[in-house]
Amino acid sequence: MTSTDDAIAQPQHTSEKFEIQAFVEQLHQKYQSLRDGKLADYIPELAKANPDWFSICLATTDGRVYKVGDFDQLFTIQSISKVFVYGMALEDHGREKLLTKVGVEPTGDPFNSIIRLDESSKRPDNPMINSGAIATTSLIKGKDPTEKLNRLLEMFRRYTGHDLFVDISVFMSERTTGHRNRAMAHLMLNFGMIDEPVDEALDLYFQQCSIMVNCCDLAVMAGTLANRGVNPCTGERAIAPAYVRDILSVMYTSGMYNFAGEWAYRVGLPAKSGVSGGIIAVVPNHLGIAVFSPLLDCRGNSVRGVAVCEEISRMFELHIFDSLAYGCSLLDAAPKPEA
Ligand code: GLU
Repeated sequence: MTSTDDAIAQPQHTSEKFEIQAFVEQLHQKYQSLRDGKLADYIPELAKANPDWFSICLATTDGRVYKVGDFDQLFTIQSISKVFVYGMALEDHGREKLLTKVGVEPTGDPFNSIIRLDESSKRPDNPMINSGAIATTSLIKGKDPTEKLNRLLEMFRRYTGHDLFVDISVFMSERTTGHRNRAMAHLMLNFGMIDEPVDEALDLYFQQCSIMVNCCDLAVMAGTLANRGVNPCTGERAIAPAYVRDILSVMYTSGMYNFAGEWAYRVGLPAKSGVSGGIIAVVPNHLGIAVFSPLLDCRGNSVRGVAVCEEISRMFELHIFDSLAYGCSLLDAAPKPEA
């Protein structure tokens, strides 16, 4: 990395409009030269990505989209899908029932950890690790695999504003090489944590991971969560508002693999990453952030994605515990004690 010391104009907190498009362009230029990390290769198709791909997109809750770089390059959504499928399972079953099937405890383990299947609680720890995501996917309602997949694709359509499709070669690549996921699903079946038909649930999970998106799509999806479940570009509701808080909570505690704690500390936003190089982060009531760059660190997070989100959070003071405005307005509204 050579140019990350380049200065970027600080946002001015004045009535003068801060030039957001110029800001994301500078950010893109600054981190373009950061070439650390490597492509995911445990799914053979992912190793075919171009390591130079890099885009940053922001979608505001009032429907503006700022984009720079390879923003229309398609890639598979991978683990970022877990967030939205969890939302759908919440709608299908309700919060309390879903909690009996999939927990919300962060593990600090890598996404594909197999050692923490909790035989006694009968539920995987959270919906962001693979065991929890496969269990969540197995709960999606539908009379047959086609209806379940169509329901998932329809849900993703509401979040992005257009039809999406599954990349068959990535799906087949995941399906034929996903031995660890297969082993985990069968262990969960053995422990009574999920029900038959396991292979159908696995196929649906591999399909959801193989849905093609671009960086703008991800920003609008994150912007939809920021906008309490309404797509800010189309005005269409993608998820019931009651569940947005649940989704953001698990993103905050478990969305960044075994970097989730440090991410919460340094960036302080609910987020989710995927091994194809995408990261989404949500600034509730304001903004969806998406970065795409397929070079990953040792935990499976996009190197440029983490760096860009950290810088955006720092420059705009977006860490949720920086957001003193929430606390202040609440306190201002509270009755004052008698003098
Ligand atoms: N399809 C991937 C898997 O289960 C998802 C990985 C990820 O993005 O974390 O192996």
